Amino acid sequence: MRVQILPIQLINQIAAGEVVERPSSVVKELVENCFDAGATTINIDIEQGGARRIRIRDDGCGIVKDDLPLALSRYATSKIASFEDLERVASMGFRGEALPSISSVSRLTLISRVAEADCAWKVSADGSEVDFDLQPDPHPQGTTIDVRDLFYNTPARRKFLKTEKTEFAHIESLIQKMALSRFDIGFSLSHNQKEIFHLPLAVTETEQQQRIAGICGSAFLENSIKIDVASSGLQLAGWVGLPTFSRSQQDMQFFYVNGRLVRDKLIAHAVRQAFQDVLFNGRHPVFVLYLTLDPGLVDVNAHPAKLEVRFREGRLVHDFLFSALHRALAEVRPAQNTVKIGTDSHQPFSAINKSIDVTPSDTNDTLIGSRANHKGTYSTYPPAQSALPYQVEETIQAYAKLYTGADAEPAPKQEEAKQQGFPPLGYAIAHLHNIYILAETRTGIILVDAHAAHERIIYEKLKQQAQQGNVPSQPLLLPIKINISPAEADLAEQAADLFIELGFDINRSGLETIVVRSVPALMNNTDMETLIRDVLADLAQHGLSQRMQDHGKHILGTIACHSAVRAHRRLTIDEMNALLRDMERTENSGVCNHGRPTWVELSTNQLDKFFLRGQ
Ligand code: ADP
Ligand code: MG
Repeated sequence: MRVQILPIQLINQIAAGEVVERPSSVVKELVENCFDAGATTINIDIEQGGARRIRIRDDGCGIVKDDLPLALSRYATSKIASFEDLERVASMGFRGEALPSISSVSRLTLISRVAEADCAWKVSADGSEVDFDLQPDPHPQGTTIDVRDLFYNTPARRKFLKTEKTEFAHIESLIQKMALSRFDIGFSLSHNQKEIFHLPLAVTETEQQQRIAGICGSAFLENSIKIDVASSGLQLAGWVGLPTFSRSQQDMQFFYVNGRLVRDKLIAHAVRQAFQDVLFNGRHPVFVLYLTLDPGLVDVNAHPAKLEVRFREGRLVHDFLFSALHRALAEVRPAQNTVKIGTDSHQPFSAINKSIDVTPSDTNDTLIGSRANHKGTYSTYPPAQSALPYQVEETIQAYAKLYTGADAEPAPKQEEAKQQGFPPLGYAIAHLHNIYILAETRTGIILVDAHAAHERIIYEKLKQQAQQGNVPSQPLLLPIKINISPAEADLAEQAADLFIELGFDINRSGLETIVVRSVPALMNNTDMETLIRDVLADLAQHGLSQRMQDHGKHILGTIACHSAVRAHRRLTIDEMNALLRDMERTENSGVCNHGRPTWVELSTNQLDKFFLRGQ
């Protein structure tokens, strides 16, 4: 084949491959154009997840008649004219490719009217950039772009579209994010002729907070610190959730650079560092933050869909973000740092990020009593050690529960061990660094990660109960009321059956509230509220469309992780032995349910070799 120039429509379709990944990317480009046009109201109407129709109407400046064909042509833009402009671009768009790209993979109609014109003009385009036929139209000032049958002529792309629901969910979350960047614009969104939300202009701070609450849930503002810091030409404003209001997913993190929502490694790193010593591993902060700086100091032309930016002085930006956030978090006083979420389960700062305070307690009896029948089995070893004076109620309860549900019959392994007089995992000697159990076995020593092992035991137990369709449920003394976002409350409602199967009684009690009345009986020692928030975040992340079974497993894992004894709490010898016996009875007890090993063995042979004994 000879070298030839490609037809324009094909060039535009190739460009569309980069910019137009799915319906929500079309919405992003079109809404950004409305921003650039100075609109104060944007109406977005979606049909069939955007595959059938995306119609976006604004009341911005409009496009003059003669420019309409240009607006639909490649490399034509009203936003920059020179390299200098590109260097300090302040508009959302500047590449001049969105409209031609979109028109090449859909049936696009553009209607627009500027203030001075007698009427609006309407034009359709197919990305080939010839024969624009302009028709007069009664449209008011502003622009409407109607995109129908997305990817009708690119079947490969169309095949990759997810369900209508999923595609719409992307659009909805995109509009929420964009709405958080422009309080001076009112938004409305409808799907299949049904209004999904209507966000009025938010001028006053109260109105702005209402918008944020509508998107992040009202609990967020009650549990966040307001930030407004400026230094060396950089300004950071917004809200940061308290460490106690963290999440298991990174799904509530909104960061805007000059009004543009970005996902940036450097920013993520600075934020993570600032939260490092106030957040548990694996927890993610919640924030809505706006960074403003001279447009000349940031390159927004680093990504086709402009999702990434490049800072010209990365180090400076990083350090500014880190110190602004770090300082704000450090100023949080413990009293201030309690979760204020319509529940009694206030959680002091210290309990969250430091090891739990130990106070004397002599209530070990429950534990010992409830496992008395197992105790006799290995009564010769170790020398009975009296209960250590640590606060153990929580664990005692967890264990008591484990044992009430335990099999009466000993597992084969145990039987075998009994014959030999030594259980396979031996006897506990010490709790090292409050993390690892050191135990002596018949053939050597083992080290056990207590939290990981306990987690696996609870998980397997719950899984078994769930498989038998019988997860014992225990009513809470006081029902817990939890404030969540409306979307999460919807999810909780949709997942009602799943929750019942897993032993929960959860009901919606308002737009943004749910009430928890019962939880699985095995669940103990747990911050119920955080757990349920995590489960809902999980569901939101993976979608309810997934198989129920998969969800069930996921949720069981989350419950187990929350219910297991925390690392950094010293266990008594009795507790440790109880745990070892449990491990012997439990399937898969060699790995926790995140796949990490729970124990390791060093045989006397290995030790002998190491110390060159008998050689
Ligand atoms: P870009 O935004 O990069 O300039 P687009 O292809 O998105 O490129 O848009 C091309 C041009 O069409 C814009 O530069 C702008 O002049 C005009 N335009 C597009 N959408 C609108 C709108 N909603 N209101 C006013 N003008 C618009
Ligand atoms: Mg644009």
